Amino acid sequence: MRAIRVDELLAATGGVPQGLPEDLQLISRIEIDSRKIQPGDLFWALDGERHNGHHYLDEAFRNGAVAAVVEEDQVVSDRTVQVQDSLMSLWDLADWYRKQFDALVIGVTGSVGKTTTRRMITSVLSARFQGVESPRNFNNHFGVPLSLLQLEDFHDFGVFEFGASQVGDIADLTEVANPEVGVITAIGPSHLDDFGSYENIITTKGELIERLPQGGFAVLNGDDRNVRQLAQLAKCPVILVGEREHNDLIAKNVSVSNHQIEFEVEQSRFAIPVTGRHHLTAALVAIAIGRQIDMNDAEIQQGFQSFQATPGRCLIQKVGPWTIIDDTYNANPMSSSAACRTLRDWETHGKKILLIGDMLALGEWSEDFHHLLGEEVTRSKIDRLISIGSQAANVAGSARKNGMDAGCLGTCLDQETAMMLLNLWLEPGDVILIKGSRGMQMETFIPRLQQLA
Ligand code: ATP
Ligand code: MG
Repeated sequence: MRAIRVDELLAATGGVPQGLPEDLQLISRIEIDSRKIQPGDLFWALDGERHNGHHYLDEAFRNGAVAAVVEEDQVVSDRTVQVQDSLMSLWDLADWYRKQFDALVIGVTGSVGKTTTRRMITSVLSARFQGVESPRNFNNHFGVPLSLLQLEDFHDFGVFEFGASQVGDIADLTEVANPEVGVITAIGPSHLDDFGSYENIITTKGELIERLPQGGFAVLNGDDRNVRQLAQLAKCPVILVGEREHNDLIAKNVSVSNHQIEFEVEQSRFAIPVTGRHHLTAALVAIAIGRQIDMNDAEIQQGFQSFQATPGRCLIQKVGPWTIIDDTYNANPMSSSAACRTLRDWETHGKKILLIGDMLALGEWSEDFHHLLGEEVTRSKIDRLISIGSQAANVAGSARKNGMDAGCLGTCLDQETAMMLLNLWLEPGDVILIKGSRGMQMETFIPRLQQLA
């Protein structure tokens, strides 16, 4: 963050100073988590879903906060800036702050693949330019303004992830980040119970495209019909990417191996050190943006070389005599289906085992989607399925109905039972893909398997 003067802070937020230290002139860091406060930080108290930052004001000061932004009806204390609504004020500050910079701002949304695409774009653009990206998974009403506050004068670009769980979310985030480039990765049934309908999900993603300025551009996954139809909302040029002929940027001769995907775009060949064919869309988006800002294909390829999978998203780990594909970060119907295909494409002499927890947040459609997953498991020729959670029987039942041998299926209510099955089934050379919604905490299997090895 570029240091902000106190008078700029007050002007942007309309806040009222209350006993601020007289020598306080510049704020060089803003922190919303009192545990992470470093001496000199400004603590921003937010009243969130799980925690109310106003309850941690003392801790923030003990850890060295120089002042705090607080809501006037929650806390009256010295060393504060009093505002009416601290989240709105954070937005006002981010809005003012973002306008100080002319870096190319890229907004990425979609039902799956936001983080993957954001990271792919950063890898490519970093081969020539300097930029900033959303930290971790900062993609909501707290995360986006905080991400914007990372911009600095020397940044050429900023890539920010926009997440949504209701209509209007993407409109808000687009208005504060004001991107020139908008990306939609895919549209599918994630957070379907919050959105209430598929139409609402499509409308929400469109909020990014209709707000892009005429001088900007959109990059859309043209193989996804729901994404492609949003092109008509744009005032700016749209680049469709994908494998199908109607796209502007087309990947041909795609080949996937365990540790790499390779493909051609026009005369150039690209290779990315990553597992899973679903990374292709992210790669094409990055190529489209790179080319649009005059990078040549050799530089783009150099950028791909630095792409690394992160824990929880198709990260490959050798554990004893087995290979684990750690895809535990989250699961919804699209990403679970991609996981089945990743396992289908994996080359091994051993068995392919899918260890899958419930896909949550699907509301009344949950059973249907778990049945569909069972079908996909069978189609993908997976050797063993271990399903865990309240939907486990639906996944396994549907796999069985579609022809999978009953002896290759395990339905478990808890992790202990799943570990017993693994203990029984695992042989050297086997590959285990682990996936499930965040709430299923499937990542805890990894240390358990390490112990078993
Ligand atoms: P979240 O909204 O939870 O932050 P996200 O949109 O940022 O998710 P990622 O973190 O990139 O998505 O990926 C989530 C999961 O989806 C991972 O398991 C990843 O392997 C898978 N995935 C990534 N891209 C795609 C894609 N294009 N199609 C299907 N699955 C994908
Ligand atoms: Mg994400």
